[in-house]
Amino acid sequence: MKVFNTLTRKKEELVPVEPGRVKIYTCGPTVYWFAHVGNFRAYVFADTLRRVLEYLGFEVRHVMNITDVGHLTTDDDLGEDKLEAGAKREGRTPQEIARFYEEAFFRDAERLNILKPTVVCRATEHIPDMIELIKRIEKNGFTYRTSVGLIFDTSRYPDYWRLGRLNLEEQRAGARVEVDPERRNPSDFALWITNQPKHLMQWDSPWGRGFPGWHIECSAMSMCYLGEEFDIHTGGIDHIPVHHTNERAQNFAATGKEVVHYWMHNAFLQLGDSRMGKSEGNIITISTLMEQGVEPLAFRYLCHTAHYRMPLNFTSEALVAAQHGLRGLRELGLNAQNWSAGADRVWLDTLRKDFQSAVADDLNMPQAMAVVWELVREGNRRQDRNAWELLLEFDRVLGLRLGVAEDAPLPVRRLAEEREAARRAKDWVKADQLRKEIFSQGWIVEDTRDGWRLKRA
Ligand SMILES: [Zn+2]
Repeated sequence: MKVFNTLTRKKEELVPVEPGRVKIYTCGPTVYWFAHVGNFRAYVFADTLRRVLEYLGFEVRHVMNITDVGHLTTDDDLGEDKLEAGAKREGRTPQEIARFYEEAFFRDAERLNILKPTVVCRATEHIPDMIELIKRIEKNGFTYRTSVGLIFDTSRYPDYWRLGRLNLEEQRAGARVEVDPERRNPSDFALWITNQPKHLMQWDSPWGRGFPGWHIECSAMSMCYLGEEFDIHTGGIDHIPVHHTNERAQNFAATGKEVVHYWMHNAFLQLGDSRMGKSEGNIITISTLMEQGVEPLAFRYLCHTAHYRMPLNFTSEALVAAQHGLRGLRELGLNAQNWSAGADRVWLDTLRKDFQSAVADDLNMPQAMAVVWELVREGNRRQDRNAWELLLEFDRVLGLRLGVAEDAPLPVRRLAEEREAARRAKDWVKADQLRKEIFSQGWIVEDTRDGWRLKRA
């Protein structure tokens, strides 16, 4: 397996710390609002990485955090906590906000068939681990105090710039020093914040009552569950210059080691057209897609059409194409019900090899999808049931639930519910109108003993 390491800017052979076992840490959601499709590109990427590794025979330990404290609305440690801002907005406690959006996140993740990480850990449940880690960083001489709290001195780590290829001289020259004149370097950041007494979530610490900075939580929890050296850290490219650069600096300051061996970052999702309707506070969520009749798994399919290090164009056309693609793959399963297994397996072994080398080459999913379609075409031509069996094997990586029948989209299900209500009210004319409307959208509603059921027309 080869992976592109952001730290070296090279594709490298993945050599795990423990042979046969890969340890991955993924920066999880800040749970103050619904995650949007751009966020989910990062989680689909991390999930696909995990699935590829498992498919190739590695044992995977996947850890993801939940940021439920300490993520400020600005990068300069002077902003408001995002959780508290959410709590104020909705008139609830930060804990209520955090649990509500955490649940919403995992509901959407399940819709995208994202496997639950081996460990999911909440920042608020690891404050003592963070304090212990900060103590080590302080003991090693990487900190100083200001009126904000305890600050990390980035000039003490000469390699600080490497992950983000940062030009520190330029940063220094361009810095607006008046923002915080107490700071020694513009890139310095807070480990523990003590100057916000109105903050609702506060803990006692050797540096006073306060709360942790965002970056320390990922350093503390990743090492807590994966040890002082682990294999892969994933996240979106937006994390490179600040969050991950600071995590890496903290890791080194505490341990003297390069804790993370491979940094992997996914590129952005680009909103390509404005016709894609927005909701939930002007962001596109998985629920937005469902409201518009798009299956969540079509979005997962779309993610596989671009390499994770390339921008992904998110347009209505691309989504429609992805939905068609997904149906095309399922269709092989319907066709295969009438086929028997062919004797010739050579062509299947060749395609399996092609698929494996594509996914093992830094997760080249567009290449893997090309192999998938070759399999579908050839399977249909040969009418060989083995093609479907191999596609189901590939689906361990794709995660498209190909063996499961498609769910009707939300608007169609609403029509079915309306029809049911009309039937109960014995309004047969309306019920029949609704049945026709459902049919015009490509679905057939059937009445069973357990109620209505939808199947594709
Ligand atoms: Zn993180």
